[in-house]
Amino acid sequence: MRGVGNCWRFAISSSPMMRRPRKRAPVTLDQESVGRLSRIDAMQVQAMALAAQRHRQAECSRIDAALMRIDSGDYGWCVRCGEEIEAKRLDRAPATTMCLACAKEG
Ligand SMILES: [Zn+2]
Repeated sequence: MRGVGNCWRFAISSSPMMRRPRKRAPVTLDQESVGRLSRIDAMQVQAMALAAQRHRQAECSRIDAALMRIDSGDYGWCVRCGEEIEAKRLDRAPATTMCLACAKEG
């Protein structure tokens, strides 16, 4: 596993991003606001809140996947080409799955 086991596990699991989002009440529109602009504003706030929630869930999924790759010994190896992922890249984005070359290919 190239010495990435416990060190990375600690780094990833202690990251603030690992904190699970609390169960949130569904976002509701402010029904007491009057006027069209207030409703549009409330809808924009709702859309932004939902987008932020989706972003957090996606980040949690990426971190979960990284933890599974640590367990399986695949962490740090590109899922596309199988080459080693650059250490600098892992420093910046520990949950990344691809080397720089493959990530650039998209
Ligand atoms: Zn690659």
